[in-house]
Amino acid sequence: MTVGTQKILSPEEIAVRAGEQLSFLHLPEAGVFAERALRLRELAAGHAMGDFLRFVAELADAQHRALSAQVAVPLPTPGQIDAAARNGQPLLPAEAWRREPVWLESLRALLNDVARHLADGQPKAAVLQLAAASDEYLETQAGRLLGGVMLGLDLAAAPLIAAGLQLHWVRLVRQTAAHAPGPIAAFGRTDDPTLCPCCGSRPVASLERLGSDGARYLACGLCATQWHYVRIKCAHCQSTKGISLQSLVGTDETNSTTADAVVQAECCSECGHYLKLMHPARDNGLEPLADDLATLTLDLLVSEAGLQRQGVNLLLLFGEPDEAPPPGREH
Ligand SMILES: [Zn+2]
Ligand SMILES: [Zn+2]
Repeated sequence: MTVGTQKILSPEEIAVRAGEQLSFLHLPEAGVFAERALRLRELAAGHAMGDFLRFVAELADAQHRALSAQVAVPLPTPGQIDAAARNGQPLLPAEAWRREPVWLESLRALLNDVARHLADGQPKAAVLQLAAASDEYLETQAGRLLGGVMLGLDLAAAPLIAAGLQLHWVRLVRQTAAHAPGPIAAFGRTDDPTLCPCCGSRPVASLERLGSDGARYLACGLCATQWHYVRIKCAHCQSTKGISLQSLVGTDETNSTTADAVVQAECCSECGHYLKLMHPARDNGLEPLADDLATLTLDLLVSEAGLQRQGVNLLLLFGEPDEAPPPGREH
């Protein structure tokens, strides 16, 4: 039943929506950043991008300390929760959600904390310099980052600002889920199954979750939510035809053959996009964002074949700085 463009949920639909959360959605857990840091250090050993992976691990450690500090963020109202559910939209859209000043305070605290923990040789001065940048500069950069606008984006500052945005959105999602009142669950299915149902971001990668009978989930690179998405289906155009899997053979990064690679690229010949498909059953320390960063060679291999990356990793952006907007922002 529809009124105008709004869907009216029946009590049955509301119940289904609440019940489905268990299997459809896996919201970010308290240890999300700690697990990421652990995995990044594991992957960094002997890796060509080891220094970068260890730097991102420092960021993730600081994100974990900040998340553990239980800082409250302003949450959506019951009216906003209701409207998002009825419109089939993500409740906390990355580009449109108003960022309250607490996110900037937290970003600066995060950067100062990171700088304190960096070793000699790591870019401590650059981190402190960014912490001292103006609100206006940080907000402008954050807006470009979340909007996928490469024009004018400071690529050196981007991973640091992204870390602050990830922290903010993980807080938003976790606290909203913990405190949401009313019969309608704060998060559930939305109209576009290829976008994060919590924040509307494109996935960083997909994975066959352990303990889910091989069900495939898309993983959000901003708020770390994982949501169910049918297997062997393009995460860009939703085609189920022309899907093939590519992987590296016997490289240092995967040390595996094509058939049992931990990370594969799911390629779509219908639209020419690919998204990584990861298999925790083959390496149970796997963490989507970390494993994405560590398999850049797979991106190079697949993009040489002319395919475009669908995954978004805010810590390592693809595309030219003078490109605006970058590919794949047509959603
Ligand atoms: Zn998200
Ligand atoms: Zn496609």
